[in-house]
Amino acid sequence: MTRLIFIGAPGAGKGTQAAILAEHFHIPHISTGDILRAAVKDQTELGIKAKAYMDAGDLVPDSLILDLIRDRLAQSDAATGWILDGFPRNVAQAEFLDKLLVEINQHDYVGLELFVPDDVLVERLMLRGRADDNADTIRHRLGVYHQQTSPLTAFYKNQQRLRQVNGHQELTVVAKDLQAALV
Ligand code: AMP
Repeated sequence: MTRLIFIGAPGAGKGTQAAILAEHFHIPHISTGDILRAAVKDQTELGIKAKAYMDAGDLVPDSLILDLIRDRLAQSDAATGWILDGFPRNVAQAEFLDKLLVEINQHDYVGLELFVPDDVLVERLMLRGRADDNADTIRHRLGVYHQQTSPLTAFYKNQQRLRQVNGHQELTVVAKDLQAALV
């Protein structure tokens, strides 16, 4: 049974590597960013509420995201494991998730951190050119990451669940290191 919580700054390569890991372990890749972008595109109630936060590079309020993740983990494909990409994003979400996972008997998981220096992240994000990838928003999203999300490394370290991998390497080397970290 493979359950992975993937942590890393915007531009660290989480999305790409999560997709590779999901295929390798035959588990669903659950990206809250992808779910939110689809909701924005489809102009659902969630998407309409989330859009301004996403455009600004802020986290959407926890109230929008917690039910979403509860529903997603209740789906049948998640019973055999999962990789979470982009959730949790702050300590409140991580505490919610721990409680939820105990409730649904899925509390056996690994925290996986992909670390990349900030100057490399900025370079990569400028090249990526997604709607929320302009210079101001990039700087803001990195600030949000350091303030709100990076405390999760200590959170999972304290639980002795954290494995850390250097994301500033060739894509194939990172993929290999991630798999090695999970043996
Ligand atoms: P990502 O694709 O993970 O970089 O997410 C893109 C944007 O979606 C973020 O900048 C946030 O605005 C929003 N988002 C994604 N996941 C979360 C989350 N767990 N909590 C709050 N906002 C999120």
